[in-house]
Amino acid sequence: MSSSSLPVPWPKDAEVKLHSGGCHCRKIRYEFEHPDIYAMAVVNCNCSICENRGYLNAYTWEDKFRFTKGSANDLTTYSFGEGRIIHRFCPTCGTTIGATVPRSGFVVINTRTIDGIDLQRLQLYQADGRSKITTAE
Ligand SMILES: [Zn+2]
Repeated sequence: MSSSSLPVPWPKDAEVKLHSGGCHCRKIRYEFEHPDIYAMAVVNCNCSICENRGYLNAYTWEDKFRFTKGSANDLTTYSFGEGRIIHRFCPTCGTTIGATVPRSGFVVINTRTIDGIDLQRLQLYQADGRSKITTAE
């Protein structure tokens, strides 16, 4: 599963931590393993959906992400164009927690939904998703 690489590869010696977050109404809660969020590039993409929904993306492997309240079935999904990316949001409060990319092995986490996140401290990487898809390969 982890044979390919993440869109933002983790440094080999990075200490992996457990992060938690969820949607605004707390119907959906999740946790995932990832190095210190502030030590890694967070992707601020200018494609239509990222700009529209306010994504600031971090990435982890599917097997390092789990729901602690609710499940994937409780989320509403949205795909467009070639439908490669499945965007996931809470049907009650509308919070976009992130996305999945079929067959990629990784999930996208909208860092805005991580507990206690300080957006000012994020190291934003400006990705040009408007010109090309940058979230896979
Ligand atoms: Zn919600």
